[in-house]
Amino acid sequence: MRIDILTLFPEMCAAVYRESILGRAAKKGVLTVDSVNIRDFAGNKHNSVDDAPYGGGAGMLMQAQPVYACFADLCDRLGTRPHLIYMSPRGKVLTQQRAKELAQLPNIAILCGHYEGIDERVIEEIVDEEISIGDYVLTGGELPALVLTDCIARMLDGTLSSAEGRENESHYHGLLEYPQYTRPPVWRGREVPEVLLSGHHENIDKWRAEQSLRVTAERRPDLLEKKKPGED
Ligand code: SAM
Repeated sequence: MRIDILTLFPEMCAAVYRESILGRAAKKGVLTVDSVNIRDFAGNKHNSVDDAPYGGGAGMLMQAQPVYACFADLCDRLGTRPHLIYMSPRGKVLTQQRAKELAQLPNIAILCGHYEGIDERVIEEIVDEEISIGDYVLTGGELPALVLTDCIARMLDGTLSSAEGRENESHYHGLLEYPQYTRPPVWRGREVPEVLLSGHHENIDKWRAEQSLRVTAERRPDLLEKKKPGED
């Protein structure tokens, strides 16, 4: 899979996707991530890509043409048109399910806004989908784009080692994870639940399933309501 991030801050993105699990996925050939500087498509001698909003109001807006030209150039270079996602607080909130679906696509491009956002016309013209990472506003789309990239990368076979299995993690099956413990068996008087020390795998699985339901019911009852009957 390939993800291209369209941004005014390509180095900020590269610093993250070259490291850790994303970097490892790249080395394994599971995922290629690259970033393109929208400013390279400014088309004026000052390299300016923003202007004041029509109708007045605070701040500046990213102009349509540099964003459009940047995406057109990417499509030319790739020889295909990637699914274009604009990171935006107005988008649908990211879920594990959507990340799983996006991980099926061969090419994705992620557009990062800055300032007060982007001229609506280019969003209408080229964007396929708007995704938010939560009901709050950040300064720019770079952190959200990296959150989305990381989330998709974990859904690709080969990104995680088998020891880092994702199936039991929170949200994979629509529930939160059960509590986990490591050595020592007693810490500050707090004991690890006996069943986990028993070596009885069936009982351990049963305990974990119960705990997962308990934690979800306590912290996120809305997730239980969303789960369809018969879903594991
Ligand atoms: N004026 C915009 C609004 O009220 O919806 C917010 C613009 S925000 C300051 C600048 C950029 O940060 C956005 O264009 C978007 O790319 C990104 N951004 C901010 N919050 C985000 C969120 N919760 N999810 C995804 N992207 C976000």
